[in-house]
Amino acid sequence: MVQSAVLGFPRQGKLRDLKKATEAYWAGKTSQAELLATAKELRLNHWKIQKDAGVDIIPSNDFALYDHVLTQIQDFGAVPERYTTSNLDPVDEYFAMGRGHQKGGVDVPSLEMVKWFDSNYHYVKPTLQDNQTFKLVSNPKAVVEFKEAKEAGINTRPVLVGPVTFLHLAKADRGQSVNPIDLLEKLLPVYEQLLTQLKEAGAETVQIDEASLVFDLPAKVKAAYKPTYEKFASLGDKIPKLVFTTYFGDIVHNLEAIPKDIYAVHIDLVRNPEQLETVAGAIGSKTILSAGVVDGRNIWKTNFKRAIETVESAIQKLGKERVIVATSSSLLHTPHTLASEEKLDPEIADWFAFACEKVVEVATIAKAVTEGPASVREALEANAKSMNARATSKRTNNPQVKDRQSKIAESDYNRKSEFSTRIAQQQKKLNLPLFPTTTIGSFPQTKEIRLQRNKFTKGEITEAQYDKFIEQEIDMNVKIQDELDLDVYVHGEPERNDMVQYFGERLDGYTFTTHAWVQSYGSRCVRPPIIVGDISRPAPMTVKESKYAVSVSKKPMKGMLTGPVTCLRWSFPRDDVHQSVQAEQLALALRDEVVDLEKAGVDVIQVDEPALREGLPLRSGKEREAYLDWAVKAFRLSTVGVEDSTQIHSHFCYSEFQDFFHAIAALDADVLSIENSKSDAKLLGVFVDSAYPRHIGPGVYDIHSPRIPSEQEIKDRIEEMLQYLKPEQLWIDPDCGLKTRQWKETKEALVNMVNAAKFFRAKY
Ligand code: GLN
Ligand code: ZN
Repeated sequence: MVQSAVLGFPRQGKLRDLKKATEAYWAGKTSQAELLATAKELRLNHWKIQKDAGVDIIPSNDFALYDHVLTQIQDFGAVPERYTTSNLDPVDEYFAMGRGHQKGGVDVPSLEMVKWFDSNYHYVKPTLQDNQTFKLVSNPKAVVEFKEAKEAGINTRPVLVGPVTFLHLAKADRGQSVNPIDLLEKLLPVYEQLLTQLKEAGAETVQIDEASLVFDLPAKVKAAYKPTYEKFASLGDKIPKLVFTTYFGDIVHNLEAIPKDIYAVHIDLVRNPEQLETVAGAIGSKTILSAGVVDGRNIWKTNFKRAIETVESAIQKLGKERVIVATSSSLLHTPHTLASEEKLDPEIADWFAFACEKVVEVATIAKAVTEGPASVREALEANAKSMNARATSKRTNNPQVKDRQSKIAESDYNRKSEFSTRIAQQQKKLNLPLFPTTTIGSFPQTKEIRLQRNKFTKGEITEAQYDKFIEQEIDMNVKIQDELDLDVYVHGEPERNDMVQYFGERLDGYTFTTHAWVQSYGSRCVRPPIIVGDISRPAPMTVKESKYAVSVSKKPMKGMLTGPVTCLRWSFPRDDVHQSVQAEQLALALRDEVVDLEKAGVDVIQVDEPALREGLPLRSGKEREAYLDWAVKAFRLSTVGVEDSTQIHSHFCYSEFQDFFHAIAALDADVLSIENSKSDAKLLGVFVDSAYPRHIGPGVYDIHSPRIPSEQEIKDRIEEMLQYLKPEQLWIDPDCGLKTRQWKETKEALVNMVNAAKFFRAKY
């Protein structure tokens, strides 16, 4: 029999119950016991959904209150000392690492988060010391949750991040120089202990995520697989059988690192179907292949015919006993259930499958190949009908858009003049001081904003009333920026529910959902809109608010747009048209918006591209260069339609550009604001090495945490930056937008930031 397996389930629950419970706990409104009870209830629900769907292999320990890597950091005793000295209880210590802690005399920033793969999910980075030791806690979560499921009558397959991947993700703490992979020998005993405990608790198999195998690995990391898995093999029946799990890429360049004679290997056959043949030929003669054929990253219904063909071809090579049908990755990256989408057009809804529907798909495919297609005939027929309906629907094609795309000329990618000419004209108009201060766009999205938006969506207030409310918010934001004495203002984005969804709702070719939330980090969820057809802009999207903001502000006011690559990456993209085509359509729509903003008197326009890097194919080479080529072109297409005197900004939520700096430079943006406060200032070295001529605002403080940076801290940071950047190049700004923060901490932090900027202004 061919078994079905799910690699992980979304954690938030049908109504983002986990988010609500954690935030209530953080706000001191509920007790820890209440939070933990909600979490437990969610886990039980999710296991039950999978069991009822007929899934054979159901994961446990895929759940986390904040992040699953963070759980392992804590369970392995890899908590940096600064979090342990104040004797927080384990749950608060966990959250302190995830989001910082500034309460009751304790003041620690969070650990760094990273979008490690090419998804929008942020993992917490293990942060290790030169003299790092590891020690398993007495009640490791993996064991607790396995037992919890067992008590509920569900035998699960626990999920762990594998040791090599855990270390490859890690970094040395500030001031430390350890190469994390050198800590392997110290780490393995902890895994041995944990696996042994899981076995004792009754776990027969464990999913061990070693997805780092999809990267181009440093030799040392690649070489670490062999001793690690030989060690595990030597433990025999003392530990569960291991399913060596990879996803988000292919592993054909790392075949020799696949453990010989391991129980099972999982590969992502949605992303890289072509790797099946090679991997199936490379695994041990008894090893099972877990075939990831149901997309864990997107919302489209699985094409059963194609998926079954793939699984059948694996069966042909290996036999039924050696194949598992699985999701391509954890379903963490998909929304909970399509059943909540009452407003979705039924024609379109018929094309989708979210997590609850995907688990049924996995079970259905496994049944089809085990018992034959007749056993699921109705499901197969319905699926074929949906596939056909989508392929032939009028909603997917717009000839006008295609026509415009065919007419794009080389000159549509270039500004009128070089940067030196542009900046002189911009400076004449904007008249900015040295070390100009600005923010990245959004200001706190207060309860009141959400309330009014809700009322408007429900039709309880009129559009005029809502517009009035937004104008008042903008007035207030301008006044606050006057008081703070910032140099380039933002309107604060009060009208935006989300930086991509907002645009999706204003573009043709998109559809959007009411409940399709996906976890981004911690309690933060996003609701990506869905690209279903060719994209165009029926009307200006942001001009009304920006124009108003300019009219009430004495200082330059930035217009704020989300770039084409980010719109694409943070949407669920089509899977029937290449992403470059979708990006180009978005770029044309945004180009019109940029030009309209300029016409409306907006002299500074920021086009955010925080998702540019996460779209990078995980391995270097041809595929990566092709991506960068179309991504840069899309950005340029969207921004270069303006006069020299209009200043184009762009923003990135990271500063690790080493691998693709040529593309960042090629964007030709006048000013780049980037995340930097949690990264090493050394990363700014790339700007020096390439004699980057344009302006840069490396973030001077972290915005993911409510913690307020002191003026001195910010000064120190700026001092460090000045080792790399020229004073006339440097802008002073936070790491990112401030929408997730409260006003109190926002103001206090910005006061310190402006004071720090003024200090250097006086000095230079
Ligand atoms: N302008 C956006 C904001 O400030 C940028 C957000 C982002 O980069 N993620 O919210
Ligand atoms: Zn950002």
